[in-house]
Amino acid sequence: MDYAQLRKIMVEEQIAARGINNQRVLDAFLKVERHKFIPKELEVNAYADFPLPIGEGQTISQPYIVALMTDTLGLTGEERVLEIGTGSGYQTAILAELAKEVYTVERLIDLSERAENALKEAGYTNIRIKSGDGTQGWPEFAPFDRIIVTAASPNIPKPLVAQLKENGRLILPLGESISQILTLVEKHNAKINTKQICGCVFVPLIGKYSTEAN
Ligand code: SAM
Repeated sequence: MDYAQLRKIMVEEQIAARGINNQRVLDAFLKVERHKFIPKELEVNAYADFPLPIGEGQTISQPYIVALMTDTLGLTGEERVLEIGTGSGYQTAILAELAKEVYTVERLIDLSERAENALKEAGYTNIRIKSGDGTQGWPEFAPFDRIIVTAASPNIPKPLVAQLKENGRLILPLGESISQILTLVEKHNAKINTKQICGCVFVPLIGKYSTEAN
């Protein structure tokens, strides 16, 4: 199968055609080999316009949603990014192409180890990965210029807001389990502003600070 050709079609028909035109972002999607981040038996669908199961009841998001979240972060190459929900490691690889350093946290150890292997094999040297509860952020390396949460939460976890730099951006699917609103959070003068982007459906963020009470 000509995966480079499938990536080109994915970028043109699913990402650029829906309005994402930042060339750095498009180039990252042309480069990262999505089929290397998903289970072998699903490889033929790696560049299709829908999410796929990655094991442990979790999913890799549809390419367009990964692109939309990435584009909204507005990365220039200088940023330190925190990602919560490593999953397959595909979004992590895209971020590593576009930012200076990526710190990524995954709750499930098996997924975390699989993603770590795939990212090592792809040759990235600007990624740190750990298994744990990402709703607590990663205090040792805070603050972050950008934070991306790739699982759904009914609230914005407080530690993540605290670990976001002034003028930083955080993106997350905000809402209940059935469906959520992809939301951009910006921090200015220690206050946050939120902007709704679109409806979405993600697996739940399961952790200490992803409950209404927090
Ligand atoms: N971005 C991923 C990719 O490219 O494959 C997809 C992520 S998947 C939609 C969401 C992930 O968030 C799952 O792997 C899930 O285990 C993880 N997750 C859920 N709650 C978490 C938490 N508190 N901390 C870290 N990861 C969490």
